[in-house]
Amino acid sequence: MQGCPVLEIDLDKITANAERVVAKCWEKGIEVLGVTKGFSAMQQIVGAMLAGGIEGLADARMENIVELRKQNFQNPITLLRIPRLSNVNNVVQYADTSINSEVAVIRALAAAALQLGKRHNIMLMVDVGDLREGIMQENVLDTVRQIGGLPGVNFIGIGTNMGCFGGILPSVNNLGLLVELGLAVERQLGHRLEVISGGGTSTLLLVESDLIPAGINQLRIGEGILLGTDTTNNRGIPWLYQDAFRLRAEVIEVKDKPSVPIGEVGKDAFGNTPQFIDAGIRKRAILALGKQDVYIEGIFPLEGKAKILGASSDHTIVDITDAGQELAVGDELVFGLTYPGLLSASDSRYVEKRFKGGKIL
Ligand SMILES: *Cc1c(COP(=O)(O)O)cnc(C)c1O
Repeated sequence: MQGCPVLEIDLDKITANAERVVAKCWEKGIEVLGVTKGFSAMQQIVGAMLAGGIEGLADARMENIVELRKQNFQNPITLLRIPRLSNVNNVVQYADTSINSEVAVIRALAAAALQLGKRHNIMLMVDVGDLREGIMQENVLDTVRQIGGLPGVNFIGIGTNMGCFGGILPSVNNLGLLVELGLAVERQLGHRLEVISGGGTSTLLLVESDLIPAGINQLRIGEGILLGTDTTNNRGIPWLYQDAFRLRAEVIEVKDKPSVPIGEVGKDAFGNTPQFIDAGIRKRAILALGKQDVYIEGIFPLEGKAKILGASSDHTIVDITDAGQELAVGDELVFGLTYPGLLSASDSRYVEKRFKGGKIL
């Protein structure tokens, strides 16, 4: 569609990022799962990840996983959200592995697997502090006992998630604890576990700085490969590209206007009471881009001195007074994206996706 916002995707940079993450983790004996939920599992981007040496894929949405299978990706896929009890048949049919913390769900997966003549892999999530999903550490051995011997499922190992709810940083302590718990489980079972899964992008810092506890042998990486950023540790990852994704939007109005609205203040279009600081007359651009296209707080202008003032469903207002660039109607403004920005733009049907680079797989 002409003139709609464009999400530009540089597949070669994604491949390069995947290669670097895979190589860095490989040195520590860590396998990398490529997490596809940040871009609605668009097949071109999945292809770019695979070209970089990723083998296992992972997504939080069954809808994305079913789509990947329809596109004929044969790679092992892990479901990264606890399966819905109502959806276990689908999970067993399309995903090889799921993360779990509820015995009732694991039993249902086992029953579904038996019925479908399949075996489904179970990764048990352990909460080591972030307080999103996972069983508490004191319940690990007992839970393992309860799911042991269930036909239809393989208990492949334990994992943890960090940074997502509590903002807890992965550390030598909490990942060390995960490894310890893994050893205790192995002693109870009398055999080794296949997987000790130590989190996502935020764990890369420990890998880089040689602090990752021995025994962690899997990470599930999305943000780092896609955006080269690590939000939880509040950093750009210096050895990864940070510009694989760009969002372009067209300017539809440029005018000098006061910085404080005129008249009695009610609520804005989203029910909030807006507040303004008087900075005099400013040059403002309106973009054909709004909250229906993308999560506005998740994009940032690359033109350093342009500043997003706000947005409604279909308009974004940008202060361009100090922007170096002379902007006129019909020009484009270019934005970088954060993870939530990428998540929303990928999934918006109003945003055109434009790919560059990439190999034919
Ligand atoms: C999204 C997700 C990941 C990937 O996290 P990134 O920060 O994007 O690397 C890993 N594990 C789970 C359980 C997730 O939900």
